[in-house]
Amino acid sequence: MIVCKFGGTSMANAETIGLVKQIISLDADRRYIVVSAPGRRNPADSKVTDMLISLKNDFDNGRDVSKGIDALCARFQDIAQKFGIDFDASCEFEKIYRALTLGASDDYVKSRGEYLSAKLLSKILGVPFVDAADLVKFGTDGVDYETTLANIANALKAFDRAVLPGFYGSDKDGQIVTFSRGGSDVSGALVAAAVKADVYENWTDVDGVFSADPRKDDTARLIDRLTYEDMYNLALSGANVLHKDAVYPAERAGVPINIKNTFNRYAAGTWIMKE
Ligand code: ASP
Repeated sequence: MIVCKFGGTSMANAETIGLVKQIISLDADRRYIVVSAPGRRNPADSKVTDMLISLKNDFDNGRDVSKGIDALCARFQDIAQKFGIDFDASCEFEKIYRALTLGASDDYVKSRGEYLSAKLLSKILGVPFVDAADLVKFGTDGVDYETTLANIANALKAFDRAVLPGFYGSDKDGQIVTFSRGGSDVSGALVAAAVKADVYENWTDVDGVFSADPRKDDTARLIDRLTYEDMYNLALSGANVLHKDAVYPAERAGVPINIKNTFNRYAAGTWIMKE
């Protein structure tokens, strides 16, 4: 059984989501899918999460948010239209606007990108949506692993396949809490650990982990295998291919992580494991 996480560039628009759909359909073992919010479609573009953060900021400072809402809504509507699915993004953003007027928290607003991304992919694939808010539980010092793993394992027992939003969960009062940026990697690792997946595939936009930044250094070479510890140390020192906190849940459950490229799907990628 494979748990897949698709990052923001994989979820950026209808074209890239088309690739995601193909990847999922190529292997029936890819049963649980965790997604990020749509990322940049080109270098000049904005990530949906950044747009949501600006929206909240504008609202808090009494600025007009209608343009921001329209731009966000258009991103989701465009994807839905291209897949010919019935998805009312404007109704979703009306709800978000209403929540803003009722004092919604920063984390709530920031989390809506993943929420809508997962809802959309669930419709595109015809696979049930399962909300992470009810499963990923945060205590006073971060994720409560035991409760979270038990919640996920229990909830997913009822589903042969599911799409889940990354990046957020909730606290004991049910209020939305987000991880730090890039945190959908952590959500994916928690799902993989909870269902005892054989592999946690982390789909991104590079072929794997490189010895240096391949955009800046010609001598950078792809690393085909790493230990969990090496990956943690690389993430800590700024390699942003995987969130550092995604290593621990996978390591604890003994689930190997395979970093893969959505735009070069047959490349082997980087494997992260015990030895
Ligand atoms: N969408 C969030 C971010 O931009 C989380 C993620 O993509 O993992 O940081």
